[in-house]
Amino acid sequence: MREGGDKKDISNRLCGVSVRDMARAVIVVDMIDDFVYGKFGSERARSVVPCIKKLIESARKKGEPVIYLRDAHKRGDKELGVWGEHAMKGTKGSEIIPELAPQKGDHILEKQTYSSFFGTGLDDILKRHGVEEVVIVGVTTDICVRHTAADAFFKGFDVIIPTDCVQTISDDSQDRALEEMKKLYNAKVVGLDKVIS
Ligand SMILES: [Zn+2]
Repeated sequence: MREGGDKKDISNRLCGVSVRDMARAVIVVDMIDDFVYGKFGSERARSVVPCIKKLIESARKKGEPVIYLRDAHKRGDKELGVWGEHAMKGTKGSEIIPELAPQKGDHILEKQTYSSFFGTGLDDILKRHGVEEVVIVGVTTDICVRHTAADAFFKGFDVIIPTDCVQTISDDSQDRALEEMKKLYNAKVVGLDKVIS
């Protein structure tokens, strides 16, 4: 149960239906082979796996949607001109790592650039579930997590970033991205314990 949803609780009571447990969704960004073990893999990316596992297990128990976004690039994607080939559609590099394997009822969406909302149908899924608040986790904090947080904010969702479930290439990049998401998108930047309590 979450704190602080007074207005929503009242409207839920008036409707006679509780949507409270469905108001939040977890978005898992790019926890795929190329970003954890493969081409851009790192110890820093691997360090968030247990934390994300704990979060998604808790979300599934509460009936909150768990939505995976993964890079699945096609030749000609603009982004390949910046980073070179990575996470190509149909290759191992684009597969979600086995430790965080999706389960029945989870959503898996493919993306071709940084934002999880761009051309993926994510917005429709969130609306269908009545989601108002998104918890964004994965890699990297300053690129795909950040662009996803920006679009979530633009589309009117509240944003939560559990600091121990996101990572990037350096402490400096991590701190700057967290600070900017807090400042620009009013993101709640907190430890996972605050998110699942
Ligand atoms: Zn990419």
